[in-house]
Amino acid sequence: MNPLLTSAPGAQRRPEALNWPHLLMLLALPPYAWLCARWAWPAELSLALGTLLGLGWLMAWERLRPGRADWQASAADMRRDASSLGLASLTDLAFSLLITTSALIVQQQELSWRGAQGAALRSFWQALPWPVALLLVIALGEFLPYWLHRWAHAWPSLWRWHAVHHWPTAVNASNSVLVHPFNVLWNKLGRLLPAVFLAVPAELMLWAALFIQMQELAAHANVAGSLRGLRGLLGGAELHRWHHSVVLDEAGNFGTVLPWWDWVFGSLVWPQAAGPAAVGWAEGAPRPSRLGWSALILGAVPRPAQPAAAEDQDD
Ligand SMILES: [Zn+2]
Repeated sequence: MNPLLTSAPGAQRRPEALNWPHLLMLLALPPYAWLCARWAWPAELSLALGTLLGLGWLMAWERLRPGRADWQASAADMRRDASSLGLASLTDLAFSLLITTSALIVQQQELSWRGAQGAALRSFWQALPWPVALLLVIALGEFLPYWLHRWAHAWPSLWRWHAVHHWPTAVNASNSVLVHPFNVLWNKLGRLLPAVFLAVPAELMLWAALFIQMQELAAHANVAGSLRGLRGLLGGAELHRWHHSVVLDEAGNFGTVLPWWDWVFGSLVWPQAAGPAAVGWAEGAPRPSRLGWSALILGAVPRPAQPAAAEDQDD
């Protein structure tokens, strides 16, 4: 794939204004982390509240400073995305205990098997300056999700579940949570496993998870502006909008949180235009006209064309 494409016909010009709603949200994370630690909130509460606050902040700025007027989420879109978030949260809740418990057992066994190595890993994390340790945890945690995301676009068996996320013909903060529960789970496992085997301290894992969550939202937010010099280092909407393009050659940028693995593995798409002309499933792909409950649960399986009256009676 050509890493540096030129402007697509019909695409917007690259905006020059700074995307400060995105940057301010990231700057608010350290004080938020400090408050959560001071009040001794459980990790799940800190993450859930942080996600809702971030989502509300970005959705407000989508109304005040939209990147594209035709990408605003309608009330129906938000209901659909809230249903998806509800399903994903329920699944996450159901598997969370299992995953966390298994992860802790594996970590304890791993450390007891390795003895001195486990102690060395703990001292390694303690010796690193905190921002460096956090960035390292995030980058390592993004490696498996990067490849799972690439495979989800290449393999039909995974695409079936990932397709739900690409179904909308707009990219905005609301549809950042339109993700099938299986897709949520494989991302979670992909991020959690390396952290467990490398004995990453729980506090670092929590703040990495919060940063990742905020970046996932910001990368989809339809807020005008550019990250300017940070654009190639930090995941953001400028890069991620291209991932949703209907033109497959433009749809690189598989890393939502950081573009680093896209740089390493040659999938970075970095055009000068602000975004693709159209987003959604690839041009010509058979596509259901609506995402009903069946698609949200069973995956977005394309169906053959049917008469309009017979379509989508499932929701
Ligand atoms: Zn994708």
